[in-house]
Amino acid sequence: MAKDDKLRVVMVNVRQGDCIAIQLPSGEVMLVDCNKPTGSDIPPVINYLNEFAERRGGIYDIDLLCLTHPDRDHYTGLVDVIDWVQRKGGSVKRLIHFASKFRRGYEAALRKFTMLPDDQKAGFVFECGEFKKLMECMAAVKENIQEHEKTAPKEWSFERADGFKPTARFTDVSVDILGPKSSDVQKFEEDSWNNLLEGWPFGKSNESKSTNVLSCILCVRFKSLRVLLTGDSPEETLLSAVSSCVSRFRQYKGVTFDIIKIPHHGAASSSSINLWKALSGRSGYMLISAGLDRRYGHPHTETLRHIGASCPNHELVCTNYCPDA
Ligand SMILES: [Zn+2]
Ligand SMILES: [Zn+2]
Repeated sequence: MAKDDKLRVVMVNVRQGDCIAIQLPSGEVMLVDCNKPTGSDIPPVINYLNEFAERRGGIYDIDLLCLTHPDRDHYTGLVDVIDWVQRKGGSVKRLIHFASKFRRGYEAALRKFTMLPDDQKAGFVFECGEFKKLMECMAAVKENIQEHEKTAPKEWSFERADGFKPTARFTDVSVDILGPKSSDVQKFEEDSWNNLLEGWPFGKSNESKSTNVLSCILCVRFKSLRVLLTGDSPEETLLSAVSSCVSRFRQYKGVTFDIIKIPHHGAASSSSINLWKALSGRSGYMLISAGLDRRYGHPHTETLRHIGASCPNHELVCTNYCPDA
């Protein structure tokens, strides 16, 4: 396996959505979310995954895959990526996803479908079909992991993001789940599926606070470097999860983060001066993944103002302005 001393963090430009690919110094690969832009046949992350695999001598494994939450701008490319990994002879070895069951959402969808007026059924069928494909694909990945986990539990694992948990140890790199807190999961889980299904009859994903609250919050630690990955976590969910880790766990005491993926594509509801002051140190990188046409107004000008006011020495990297970051 090719080794160097670099942690490569790529925020792939997937327009409105998220996709973060990371290669660890040991060569192992992490993928957090995977949007496929409308009209694309292949998720753009495949180019990076190919490059990563070649660098590590033709190993096509994804050593850790995380689906942060069930909004479609975070998952439409995942089925293609998993299929690609399998065709190349690789495996997904660790899976982290939001703390709620796909099947529960799918069953709620089927119940809703029977009650819809006929003119809303077509849009619903499309969204439901995409979700079903994802559900089946994730279930197969999970099953494969659980089969191997029995004999090699250090290399294979399946976790739900439900409160703090150290989750994976690689050579020189650790990955911890920082949130959401279990209390937030319990409070919002039921609502999240209801909100998600509200948009489906109209053929669109209904981004809501409840689904975003479920977002897995991860920290990648390499030497003194801390990378914070946040999905679409709202401001108060993120702040309370990280503050609770900082106050309870020795390894997070006094910690700030050097690379922060700004949650929810730079939406104002996921930002405040207080938040960035609490999370960031004196310098580093703030990453925003947002669509070129700013259809949703991402990143919000308030968010940019908050970052400017609280982190003047940070470099802001945004997919609206840079091709890939
Ligand atoms: Zn999103
Ligand atoms: Zn979302």
